[in-house]
Amino acid sequence: MLKRSSDFGVLSYEKEPLKLPLGLANFSEKGAAIMAVTDPAPPTHFIKRIIEEDLKTNKYDGRVMTRFPPEPNGYLHIGHAKSICLNFGLAESYGGFCNLRFDDTNPTKEEVEYVESIKDDVHWLGFDWNDRLYYASDYFEQLYDYAVQLIEKGKAYVDSLSAEEIKEYRGTLTEAGKESPYRNRSIEENLDLFRGMRAGEFPDGTHVLRAKIDMASGNLNMRDPVMYRILHAEHHRTGNEWCIYPMYDWAHGLCDSIEKITHSICTLEFEDHRPLYDWFLEELGVYRPQQIEFARLNLTHTVMSKRKLLRLVEEGYVRGWDDPRMPTISGLRRRGYTPEAVKDFSERIGVAKKDSMVDIKLLEWCIREYLNKHAPRVMGVLRPLRVVIENYPEDKVEELEAINNPEDPTMGTRMVPFSRVLYVERDDFREDPPKKWFRLAPGREVRLRYGYYITCVDVVKDKKTGEVVELRCTYDPATKGGWSPDGRKVRGTLHWVSAGHAMEAEVRLYDHLFLKPHPEEVEEGSDFKSNVNPASLEILHSCRLEPSLAGATSKSRYQFERLGYFCLDPDSSAGKLVFNRTVTLRDTWAKIEKKMKEGIKQ
Ligand code: ATP
Ligand code: MG
Repeated sequence: MLKRSSDFGVLSYEKEPLKLPLGLANFSEKGAAIMAVTDPAPPTHFIKRIIEEDLKTNKYDGRVMTRFPPEPNGYLHIGHAKSICLNFGLAESYGGFCNLRFDDTNPTKEEVEYVESIKDDVHWLGFDWNDRLYYASDYFEQLYDYAVQLIEKGKAYVDSLSAEEIKEYRGTLTEAGKESPYRNRSIEENLDLFRGMRAGEFPDGTHVLRAKIDMASGNLNMRDPVMYRILHAEHHRTGNEWCIYPMYDWAHGLCDSIEKITHSICTLEFEDHRPLYDWFLEELGVYRPQQIEFARLNLTHTVMSKRKLLRLVEEGYVRGWDDPRMPTISGLRRRGYTPEAVKDFSERIGVAKKDSMVDIKLLEWCIREYLNKHAPRVMGVLRPLRVVIENYPEDKVEELEAINNPEDPTMGTRMVPFSRVLYVERDDFREDPPKKWFRLAPGREVRLRYGYYITCVDVVKDKKTGEVVELRCTYDPATKGGWSPDGRKVRGTLHWVSAGHAMEAEVRLYDHLFLKPHPEEVEEGSDFKSNVNPASLEILHSCRLEPSLAGATSKSRYQFERLGYFCLDPDSSAGKLVFNRTVTLRDTWAKIEKKMKEGIKQ
């Protein structure tokens, strides 16, 4: 049995950090992120205040109706998770509803695979749209009718300039745009051409439908934006029924309106689109939701755009959308993140009106916090070094009681086999130990977790390579359980597994996907991929794990003592275990060593 927590060597076993990692304050969202961690009061934000005010004034008859509107052109990432938690979370808090709506207006980039993955991700986060699953494509007919209404009102026209010409005519931020020579076509001609566009009478790129607003507007979005383009492409839901497809700005506000959304929450880059959002709805005289913009999540050491993530997948930088290094929800899931940790992270980063960069350490902190409370502790050796305890009987096996989680006594204990031949971590032995080294070295005594004190009496080396292949040790039978009756000091405590009982496994260790905190910072002529971390994945074979891990399932999470948190990877099969490291523990030794090195330099 474990006697005192102080039995554990300072260097080897330590409590999880309770504070936010240092350095976090250097990133924007500055105080906000830090305060949210230390302040137990539930954070509030400007969108909540807007909704509360609207509820007070009965603006939408007391309704709260939000939506999460992904484009199914890739897998969702942690930024989307923020949006999901915000939209579904607000609906939940105010007794409202949140729709899941696929913004499937671009047939060439969208796929059913993405639709399914998005549904899985929203469910995994713990949210449900019930029967409110919609697709922008459900409204194509209605959107078409609305477009006809605008044409009839003289507020939309068919333009026959080419895409390049339209761009040229658009002007710049400092220069007004130029009106298209087709701008003043008659209503009849416009109706006829638009009908022809729909009927498939024209090839791609020959005509577009544009809103007739103001080519001199200071807001470029208001310079006669395109509403429809011709695209002879098959759509994942409507097949070949349509060969004109609505543009985002046209479709989005109308979908919101049709679904009677109250608060249409989107990211800041849509702020300049808001006048257009309002213009369409006002001109049509239909129900108008309120568009509210918030700052998108940016995270260090990663990229946050489906387009860029797709390139990483397609160009083989990662093993797929759900590669545990990816910031996708499916990647995080495979990595061992839990929905609780992702939601906690979304809460802590808060909702702001100003763009910011959040340190990825905060995300890691959230999962560590969660797993510290919930993950059972086990022992596994990643880089095994054989230890033979010379004075321990050959055929003896003892079952030692081990605590499953010191943070939660209700998680109980388990038995771990101990025998003459063990494995310890190669890193826990040094032939020439530096100062303050409390682990194994020739002549040094250490404690084996839950076991005995052992002393290294000899080192066996490979004759050819000189590599240490085995440690010969002795044990003190009076130290069972990890403490000695004479009270002698042993500071290092090592994890171990019994060689004859251990299970072999492959373990995958991950590091940041990008070397730089801001992967977009690149030399001229190269792109974000030049910052990909070539050592972001390390695969270890022949790791040895304690036998209780035979019961691991896809839902299990473990702390491998001293090494971090791990989960079973779906690549595992009956004959082959594969574990992913979700996140490390704090590595104090690395820190001490760094400090000592710095000390030497000074
Ligand atoms: P991406 O550039 O990654 O493809 P997107 O905005 O084009 O992102 P959508 O599928 O259109 O992707 O996004 C669905 C919803 O998620 C939108 O409301 C969008 O504002 C929100 N969203 C996307 N990225 C982020 C982010 N980084 N932080 C917060 N919300 C985001
Ligand atoms: Mg988009």
